[in-house]
Amino acid sequence: MDSSMNYRSWTTEDLQQCHERNKKRKEASKLKDFTCSKCGARAVPSHYVYYAAWEMVDLIMCIMCTHWYAMHKMVLKDPKTHFVARDNAYTVGDENLSKNLQRGFGGALFIIRFPDGAIVESTNLWHRGAVPTEWQEDLPNTAFFLRG
Ligand SMILES: [Zn+2]
Repeated sequence: MDSSMNYRSWTTEDLQQCHERNKKRKEASKLKDFTCSKCGARAVPSHYVYYAAWEMVDLIMCIMCTHWYAMHKMVLKDPKTHFVARDNAYTVGDENLSKNLQRGFGGALFIIRFPDGAIVESTNLWHRGAVPTEWQEDLPNTAFFLRG
């Protein structure tokens, strides 16, 4: 076997990116705690992987609020895939998933109705968590379960 086919040599750009990542990683470990601008919780960016830590700092949010911020963006971008019902967030997974892979809710059938009348059936629905009080205005209920 030709081992040169398994990897390529590092370019100057690769080394530069690696250097930048290491620098951000090192700086992230020294980030100071702050108060979340959304929920008021203590945010401790130094406890998280560097890219999550920097996102917390950029958003001035705790780790949980960065999760809900991302969910909010996903609901706006693709509201038939990511939605809120009964004050809980859900994501419709791929229906054509290999039989070997785990399905959301063990493959149980859910039938979801949206305000525009669209109906989505899913046997691969994933629960993303109960929407916290602070996020309920940004993430209102956007769908109903007809089944599930
Ligand atoms: Zn928060």
